[in-house]
Amino acid sequence: MNTQHEHVIIIGSGPAGLTAAIYTARASLAPFVIEGEPSSTSDQPGGQLMLTTEVENFPGFPSGVMGPELMANFRAQAERFGARFLTEKVTRVDFSQRPFRVWVRDTEYTADTIIVSTGARSLMLGLPEESRLIGHGLSTCATCDGFFFRDHHIAVVGGGDSAIEEATFLTKFASKVTLIHRRDEFRASKIMQERAFSNPKIEVLWNHTVTAIHGDTAVTGIEVTNTVDGATSELPVTGVFIAIGHRPNTDLFHGTLDCDENGYLVTEPNSSRTNIEGVFACGDVQDHTYRQAITAAGSGCMAAIDAERWLESQH
Ligand code: NAP
Repeated sequence: MNTQHEHVIIIGSGPAGLTAAIYTARASLAPFVIEGEPSSTSDQPGGQLMLTTEVENFPGFPSGVMGPELMANFRAQAERFGARFLTEKVTRVDFSQRPFRVWVRDTEYTADTIIVSTGARSLMLGLPEESRLIGHGLSTCATCDGFFFRDHHIAVVGGGDSAIEEATFLTKFASKVTLIHRRDEFRASKIMQERAFSNPKIEVLWNHTVTAIHGDTAVTGIEVTNTVDGATSELPVTGVFIAIGHRPNTDLFHGTLDCDENGYLVTEPNSSRTNIEGVFACGDVQDHTYRQAITAAGSGCMAAIDAERWLESQH
């Protein structure tokens, strides 16, 4: 079995992991970033911003920037200072002793310190047909798939910022977007809500959930159920975008790193320290309050500084 030793292994490559990579690289620690798998919808390299459209709230971009372009810039900046990347998914970890151990299938890597930045993934409705129809009219990514729905009537499910962002973006392609929300008010920020209400292509279906998605090889319609009176009806949409929130990618760390009741990694207040000395966490995997690219990047910087100081204290 091959073993490669590193000062710093960073697991995950969204804004948090790549910021940690920039900082540890500039500290001459030559971080090794195991960035995830391109084919994966849950932990793709670049994280969730690879699945988003225009980012308008990342400081420094007064005209906005596309999510994938922003992440390509983060990555190039980390590479410039010596970060190295492995485009694979970590399959197992052992943090019970030092050096810490990380596996990508049969290949073992050891590290003096670990930065966990595995992010979070899209939640699904839990309908059995989702696995059959994902990629065939059912999507969690308007940026990736919106183009395929030119002049279609499509549905977006959810009532948060993501749902409204997706719905608004999809109006560039769709003839009509029905935004389906299970309550009678959105959780999304006011500015996003106003954007939806003022868009003539968006129609809101309040107090409804999607209870079935029809179609064998492509979406041909959905059944919606009224959450107040239980009445069901049909919507003849050919596309469904699910935007109902996210779950942290912590499966690798169960039983190893402490998680809260929602599965997010627990870090010490004002720190990126986990319950294991020498293992740090940053970004959405440990943050369910802010969940912004800029806060993830900030926490990635914290993790890099914490890791660097911890390494210094060890030698
Ligand atoms: P979110 O804020 O957690 O909203 C999830 C939405 O989906 C809620 O409206 C929720 O309904 C609904 N929902 C959850 N489970 C459902 C189910 N099983 N069936 C039907 N509906 C369901 O998630 P998010 O919209 O992904 O946003 C996450 C964070 O990222 C937020 O802090 C948000 O502000 C931020 N964000 C910001 C931007 C931006 O500023 N450009 C863009 C995207 C996201 P209830 O309301 O009834 O719970």
